[in-house]
Amino acid sequence: MTSQANNLNQGTIAVRGGLNTDDQYGSVVPVITPSTCYRYEEFAKPREFDYARKANPSRRLVEETVAKLEGGVDAILTNCGMSAIHLISVALLAPNDLVVAPHDCYGGSYRLFNSLSQKGYFKVKFVDQSDLVALQEALSLHPKLVLIETPSNPLLRVVDIKKIAQQAHDVGALVLVDNTFMTPILQKPLELGADIVTHSCTKFLNGHSDLLAGILVFKDQQLATDVLWWANNIGTLTSSFDSYLLLRGLRTLAARVNLQQDNAQKVVAFLASHPKIAKVFHPSLPTNLGHDIAKKQQKGFGSLLSFELAGDADVMPKFLKALNIFTLAQSLGGVESLVCHPATMTHSGISAEARKTAGISDQLLRISVGLEDITDLLADLQQALETI
Ligand SMILES: *Cc1c(COP(=O)(O)O)cnc(C)c1O
Repeated sequence: MTSQANNLNQGTIAVRGGLNTDDQYGSVVPVITPSTCYRYEEFAKPREFDYARKANPSRRLVEETVAKLEGGVDAILTNCGMSAIHLISVALLAPNDLVVAPHDCYGGSYRLFNSLSQKGYFKVKFVDQSDLVALQEALSLHPKLVLIETPSNPLLRVVDIKKIAQQAHDVGALVLVDNTFMTPILQKPLELGADIVTHSCTKFLNGHSDLLAGILVFKDQQLATDVLWWANNIGTLTSSFDSYLLLRGLRTLAARVNLQQDNAQKVVAFLASHPKIAKVFHPSLPTNLGHDIAKKQQKGFGSLLSFELAGDADVMPKFLKALNIFTLAQSLGGVESLVCHPATMTHSGISAEARKTAGISDQLLRISVGLEDITDLLADLQQALETI
């Protein structure tokens, strides 16, 4: 890795990732390297890069930048968040190995672990990690890998990374944290004891909702090298062009995350005092599960929140139709504000019964607060609430 930016703060690391790396023309912004292959210096003497499935310069710049942001030694950039989680599963797990994952983890991760375990690739146990007895019981089965995802989706429940990581290590498990919702600006899982951090870079890290990518960041170089062997083996890696765009998005990460969070805090305050809102879920609220943990574990409460509309089923379509700025779409973490109805969108694959047990009501909406002017965002919510 380049020595530049080792002792710098995160805002600086993000802005300066890969700058001034072009020795040929001195371009400030890094060049894009689409080449799939690299000329050998001579017989039996490859350069740093030889074939792009394994590594390429554009991808490398993103990996170095995100590794520094998370405080890891190395990273592997993949073509989406799911392929990063798939890669770590394939690299680490053998039949009969057990993964312990949160019962309310990202739906795609739930489906991946479930479907692969049904084919016999490994075993999986989903537990409520805020339930210490259930967690202990799962850990007593000696899992190989423990996935932590906090705050959870869509209720923003927070669990204690440090405590769970310690207990997982006591039984010899590796700890993987999905840090997509927080970003390294607000939460540093490796410092809290995790071995690996993963992101859907599709969300906050890119921040512009125009590419898919995923990443794994490692605390241990040998583990990173072993997983990279698998990445090259199965071919999970992302393109130079997407890598370039992602690096461009990363430059504004700290600014975006902080401003989106400020906006979200104002949306939370507005909704919490509105008579047509039944409940608000955000880690900043003392009523939220894990609020006290969030206060010490996170550097901020983030820009995702959810809330329940008061009234009966017919208010939901009316409210969503009346919104002009908040767009009804599934993703999160972009500069644009989005609203999502988990019961019919992100969590529609789960049975109504299971949704009810998980606390996801049909009146629940999740919002990803963007970078629009807060006055306009609040006015949009206000006028839409007036229609119901
Ligand atoms: C979106 C998401 C993923 C999957 O990422 P893709 O880039 O869509 O494959 C994984 N984990 C979390 C928490 C996510 O939000």
